Amino acid sequence: MRCIVFLMNIDILALKSAPGTEFPFIFEADAERLELTDSDVEMLSPLKIRMKAVYRDGIIYINGSMQATIRLACSRCLEVFQAPFNWEFSEEIPVGTNKFLNLIQLFREIFLTSLPLKPLCSDDCRGLCAICGADLNRQQCDCPREETDPRLEVLKQLLRQ
Ligand SMILES: [Zn+2]
Ligand SMILES: [Zn+2]
Repeated sequence: MRCIVFLMNIDILALKSAPGTEFPFIFEADAERLELTDSDVEMLSPLKIRMKAVYRDGIIYINGSMQATIRLACSRCLEVFQAPFNWEFSEEIPVGTNKFLNLIQLFREIFLTSLPLKPLCSDDCRGLCAICGADLNRQQCDCPREETDPRLEVLKQLLRQ
């Protein structure tokens, strides 16, 4: 069988020569290869990608999944924690006259846009005290705390307007 991935590029001509045929791909790329070494997220394992690509009427349809172990900072308590990253994607890419599809660029983009916007170290993370900055997962503080119901908060704001 012909090799249609070369240096993380898909050979579009090979896909075009067999329209409607699904080509499976499996590969791995580390942070360096994905040019993610300056990013906020730290990759603890290479990104593993499994996908299928099929060409039809000027468009390459790809779908598959990516997996890695990553390190993120909790948006509530700022603690850095390790988490599994699993993501399923499907994309439609118009190819025009291009001969190659650069997968590095594509996966980099999919990866970065699918990271959680507000990562949490745990669903019940108590965060930091807004007054003294204490990590409320580890200690109590004596700052006055108003227990507010988020629904009431919305109502209060509406009444203020
Ligand atoms: Zn947290
Ligand atoms: Zn406090």
